[in-house]
Amino acid sequence: MTLTHGDKKHFVCPFCGYDGPLDLMGADRFPILQKLKVIGAGRRSARCPNCKSSDKERLVYTYLKEVEDIGHLKDLSILHIAPENNLQKWVESISSNYVAGDAFLQNQTFMGEVQFVDIRQTDFSDNMFDYIICNHVICDIKEDRKALSEIFRILKTGGKAIVQVPITKISKTVEYPNINTKEEREIAYGYGYHERIYNDKEYSRLLSNVGFTIDVRNFSEQYPQNGINPLEDLYICKKE
Ligand SMILES: [Zn+2]
Repeated sequence: MTLTHGDKKHFVCPFCGYDGPLDLMGADRFPILQKLKVIGAGRRSARCPNCKSSDKERLVYTYLKEVEDIGHLKDLSILHIAPENNLQKWVESISSNYVAGDAFLQNQTFMGEVQFVDIRQTDFSDNMFDYIICNHVICDIKEDRKALSEIFRILKTGGKAIVQVPITKISKTVEYPNINTKEEREIAYGYGYHERIYNDKEYSRLLSNVGFTIDVRNFSEQYPQNGINPLEDLYICKKE
């Protein structure tokens, strides 16, 4: 996707109001991402040059703010794993109980306050959060089912989780049990810290098996100016 100033779909950043062309971002060194047409990964025009938000971050923001319209709700309890800076600032401002967490605090620079949370096993009680945002994190976790089950457990009944991952629609899920090094993962999955590339239908099945009700939606046409990747569907995971 290339959005440039003057295009019919020209970009206005929903976080900072920047109006102009997007910067390139994402990995392009490893051909597997192109070969499997992996969505939500690879080199693309997607970074706001002003606030540095990505297309993936703006998709979640657009859904929560415009579609769910949670900005005016009171008493929301929200867990945000590996928080993106712009999204964190907004979600924190509207939540009565906001927890930002990450398992790798020492390797990261976060703008806001972030506590240690290993999403495979947390100390949170059952049915605690209205929303859980875990955007492009499950792809980094070997025990993906365990992490998704934990998210399901700590989500309130009626709550929703965002657990986006890079997706291929032209191959089955790519995962090699004996791959252990960064170099092997780069070649196999396009990123040194990813554990697999998910097929869309297999990922939906995994989410259903964990217990979620899935609603797959695409908001790029409804909000063309927000710079959402038109190929990236949002998997809205509800605990019913
Ligand atoms: Zn921006």
